[in-house]
Amino acid sequence: AVRIHGISKSFGTLKVLDNIELNLPASSVTAIIGPSGSGKSTLLRAINHLERVDSGFISVDGELVGYTQKGDVLYELKEKDILRRRTDIGMVFQNFNLFPHLTVLENLIEAPIQVRGLSRDEAIAFAHELLARVGLSDKIDAYPRQLSGGQQQRVAIARALALRPKVLLFDEPTSALDPELVGEVLDVIKELARTGTTLVIVTHEIGFAREVADTVVFMEGGHIIETGSPVQVFNDARHPRTRAFLAKVL
Ligand code: ATP
Ligand code: MG
Repeated sequence: AVRIHGISKSFGTLKVLDNIELNLPASSVTAIIGPSGSGKSTLLRAINHLERVDSGFISVDGELVGYTQKGDVLYELKEKDILRRRTDIGMVFQNFNLFPHLTVLENLIEAPIQVRGLSRDEAIAFAHELLARVGLSDKIDAYPRQLSGGQQQRVAIARALALRPKVLLFDEPTSALDPELVGEVLDVIKELARTGTTLVIVTHEIGFAREVADTVVFMEGGHIIETGSPVQVFNDARHPRTRAFLAKVL
């Protein structure tokens, strides 16, 4: 389970996250929605410690992300330890972010060997398994530029899974894709949800969120305005700002 406790973050005078409180039980699927600039990406980056927060903390299965605690004081971990701890939290970006000069297989085995200490053979065996899961076994020797956007994103998902994360974060995973390629990526994410992977998905795909999410979080201006089940938030939002936002996107 992931616990996000009282995190705040400012850029200069702009408060982008204001005392965010969120719990993600194991195997839960959380969709984060909200207008542009509301802090959704910053929140995901903070969960992964790609963004250092000003206050509060994040823990995964009771282990702090990015920090170690001595008495009442939190000390930031060394870069090497941050990297190791970060492998508990996978992230899939809007623009795939595959290594362009590496084949699909090499993209999948690099981090497991370097960071997790797997042998090359173990890493390759797991890569085969993951490519089968995302339906891309035949692309194992391709370079990213030889793949469609949807295929690249499925490889990016496999690459994130290769580190066996406890939670997987998605930042608008389909928004850079041509419409006809969105479905294949959403299908892979749905399958992950079905098999119990803990997921957090920032998305504009309301229909998808309604289908896969256990919990929908609506953010605006660095605040969580409302949290509830998809039915509750999408059909019967409590907060007028949630309703105003949904009226625009639904
Ligand atoms: P979108 O839906 O457009 O992706 P978002 O909800 O993901 O928006 P964030 O990217 O988290 O929004 O940005 C929240 C606010 O923080 C914005 O006002 C943005 O301009 C600002 N911001 C984000 N990163 C930085 C940065 N590195 N330096 C300064 N301001 C930043
Ligand atoms: Mg964003």
